[in-house]
Amino acid sequence: MARNQSIVLLRWLLLVLLVFLFLPPLAPAEPASARVELLPTPKQVRWGEGPPVLVARPGAGAAAACIVAGPEAGYAAEVLATRLQATVVRPPPPARLPIVLQVDAQAEFAARLGRDARPEAYRLEIGPAAVKATAVEPEGLLRAAATLLQLLQAKDGGVYAPLAEITDWPDVRYRCASDWLLNVEVNRWSYDWGDGRKNYQARIERMLDFCFAYKINMVWFDGFGWNVERTPGYAELMRAGTRAARQRGIRLLFAGYGGGYGTSYQRSEIYRCGYFGQTFLNRRPWPDGPEYLCRGMERVEPSRRYGTCLSNQDLAAAKIEEMKRFVAAVEPGFMYIHDIDTGTWRESESSWKLRCEACRQRWPSDDLASEQGQAGALAEWFGRVRSELDGVTTEAGYRAADDLTLIFVSPLYTVYYEKTPADVWQREVEYFCALGRLLGPVRNVEIGLREQFYAPDGGLKIAQLRRAMDDAGNRLGLHVVAFGGGDHYQSDDLANISGVMAPFYRGAESICLSNGGVHEEPVQVLNAEFLWNGSAGGYRPATPDEPSAQELFRRLTRGHCRPPELFAPGQLFQRICHRLWGPAAGQAMYLAYTVPGESGDGPVSRVWWSVTSCLARLRAQGAPQATDWNQERARWVRRLAHTRQALAHAQEAARLCDQEDVRWFAQSLGVGSRFAEAMVDALQLRVQDDPAVRAHLLKTLQDLEAHIATVTPLEKTDILGGDPGCWLESIANLRELGASAKPAELPARR
Ligand SMILES: [Zn+2]
Repeated sequence: MARNQSIVLLRWLLLVLLVFLFLPPLAPAEPASARVELLPTPKQVRWGEGPPVLVARPGAGAAAACIVAGPEAGYAAEVLATRLQATVVRPPPPARLPIVLQVDAQAEFAARLGRDARPEAYRLEIGPAAVKATAVEPEGLLRAAATLLQLLQAKDGGVYAPLAEITDWPDVRYRCASDWLLNVEVNRWSYDWGDGRKNYQARIERMLDFCFAYKINMVWFDGFGWNVERTPGYAELMRAGTRAARQRGIRLLFAGYGGGYGTSYQRSEIYRCGYFGQTFLNRRPWPDGPEYLCRGMERVEPSRRYGTCLSNQDLAAAKIEEMKRFVAAVEPGFMYIHDIDTGTWRESESSWKLRCEACRQRWPSDDLASEQGQAGALAEWFGRVRSELDGVTTEAGYRAADDLTLIFVSPLYTVYYEKTPADVWQREVEYFCALGRLLGPVRNVEIGLREQFYAPDGGLKIAQLRRAMDDAGNRLGLHVVAFGGGDHYQSDDLANISGVMAPFYRGAESICLSNGGVHEEPVQVLNAEFLWNGSAGGYRPATPDEPSAQELFRRLTRGHCRPPELFAPGQLFQRICHRLWGPAAGQAMYLAYTVPGESGDGPVSRVWWSVTSCLARLRAQGAPQATDWNQERARWVRRLAHTRQALAHAQEAARLCDQEDVRWFAQSLGVGSRFAEAMVDALQLRVQDDPAVRAHLLKTLQDLEAHIATVTPLEKTDILGGDPGCWLESIANLRELGASAKPAELPARR
């Protein structure tokens, strides 16, 4: 009988074994990978098998997890503790899932990573008995925490995380996926909505949480100038932003001049609002001696007056004093320090030749790359700025030496279409290598370049320059500021994907895509993905040579490229809209964004640049011959139609959710559609005077003014008051066009 029982047991065991061998493993009904989309996409994900692990019991008496971390885990521990209603402890109490945050400088998974990838590299292991996040530096724990938060799923009164092992790092050290200024890289805060300082500050903190969630660690935040008293309480407000950002491992960028001070005298829409800092003039002896001319733009003689002399030591000291006060008061993460606006080799060479006699004696060589030429002079200036700012510390623990990166831009920031001299790229590489060598082992200094694609020999320019600098043993970082549309410089495209060019900028320590402000939250998420991984949604266009790269870049810039791989229903752009605003409102927002298709004639949701730049041309004395006003009018007719269509979708979205970004998008389109209507009339009047059109324009403006009063109190937080800050002045300018009788004009050019 015992023998029989054994046989039965054996048969039974065999059966169980067969079941395990030949049946598929018991999988959850839906794999975790199908439910969770992590953005930016981690480098390696291995989903585990088995039920997800409980990490929080909202509302229940006892926490499900505890955070096991030391002080180095900082905000990573804090944010997890808050979201999971858990406490931060050292030894974990029994019966709680330990979420361990640890720093291991020798972590094996990061052993082969380069210097730009290591600080944020992390491994996140979610198992049934513990969650473990390991990073090489504390910053990596912030990124691990952001990933864990994206994984959380609420179900049956609990919060769960799927079993997984994730190993991750970014392609680019500092990812400026967010440019919150409306006027190019210069000024006008896009999140200043005329509803006062308190709302602005709350909005900025909410947006910093958004950046944290998508691992955006660099934000173009304010400019242009180092005046800490430009508005009452300016420094305090900025400090609140930089401190909240620093905690989250985000650096806010502030822009201003180190010489040149172009916004104080150059004429164009970009420079219209002047400079928010001291405009230094070349005077010797400083500050009361006579003015003199030194470096400057060859064709703009006044530019040689504006603080451009590098041999004037007292002038340099005064400029640095202003920057020091700014750093101490604002605690910036980046300073973008612009000089005279000479981008190309030719312009930079000619400006250097214009230096004053004292500069010539100090640096006799006209050769840009020489120690006795521009490279020597700038290396000395950059090094002095860096070393003097290094000493700034504040009681909040800010240390400029570590927490502040300086980006020096121009002379010579290069442009991709430079043709002369024939060996221009080779010269530029040699110049930057010389500059780096002369600067020596400085930390946290970058040189700014514009977007670049292929070198003449077929390699990628930025990577090539990085390699040449590495071979020369210098640590100077590279910054790429790319203007590919959605930037209010090239275009006001609301769904711009010029971030697909990011792989061309690999090798840069920081990259700014120059778009991603208000109404561009989906673009900010896309940018985050482009900068973390070099592609998004599987879309990577084939651009095998310079002409194809330039051609694609131009199409991207104007909003003429909406690849179905990214924009078709179900693809990444739609999924981003859904995750930001929920499936119903998100779908309406997706429809609003995709209204213009590839026409490039997008909806008008911001008045700055969209309206003001065309209005400035309309008002210019002696119309520029190049403008075909009939064509311009036709374009505004299309934009008006698209704005109205987008408005209907956005209003639907605003009905479906109560998020302020959605509400403001709908309200801004409401204002934009009325402005677009006025622009059509103004352009019609430009082509041919017509009393009926004139009357319609004035009526539209009257209605618009009344409408604005229902939208925002127009209370300025920044000196310019964001986009609403230019609404009334634009109405006044349009009214002038409607009121003035037009002189008989030549017919528009066909
Ligand atoms: Zn000089």
